[in-house]
Amino acid sequence: MLSIDNDGVIRDARIKVELIPQISHGPLTLIDAIVVHQTDSSTAKGTLAGYRTGAKGTGAHLLIDKDGTLYQTVSFHQKCWHVGPILSRCYQKHSCVPKDEEYYHSLTKITGGINGSYARAMDKREETKKYPDRYPSNSDSIGIEIVGRSLDSFGNHYESPTTQQQQSLHWLIEGLLDSLHLQRTDIYRHPQISRKGAGEAADATW
Ligand SMILES: [Zn+2]
Repeated sequence: MLSIDNDGVIRDARIKVELIPQISHGPLTLIDAIVVHQTDSSTAKGTLAGYRTGAKGTGAHLLIDKDGTLYQTVSFHQKCWHVGPILSRCYQKHSCVPKDEEYYHSLTKITGGINGSYARAMDKREETKKYPDRYPSNSDSIGIEIVGRSLDSFGNHYESPTTQQQQSLHWLIEGLLDSLHLQRTDIYRHPQISRKGAGEAADATW
């Protein structure tokens, strides 16, 4: 069990708290899931510096450096932009209600085959559902970033997390599942739920 204080911050000697307002985006009132990412960077230092510029606004609640050092960068009471438009869970599993099935079936036509529009339209429809009928999104999940580079420009292959990163991830996930009352099935790799290269966090274990 991790000790999470009233401000949504983990209080533990293993966690360095460096809250970064530039990547905090309003109240997070519900935590249904955890999403595991890789940064496509080589050092936590670089990632933290990028977060602080606020140029993109993207980031996650927790960051794991190569040597296993853990950072909390955003309170669990605040949203992060760590997941893009979500995929349709039912469409992937062939379990949509007929109305959804029909909509998604014709979505390419509806959106004129434009990738961004397709993704946004799908996300918009999915956001009307409750988890776990849909995948988790920025509105109901926390993100963990593991420092590590993509080995190609598509994100299909990433470097494997170091042993220290895996150990920190295991410890963190164990504590979070307990403290946030989540199940192992509530943990996702980013590419499972959104349009990202399949290699991101592929070798992370918990
Ligand atoms: Zn990601």
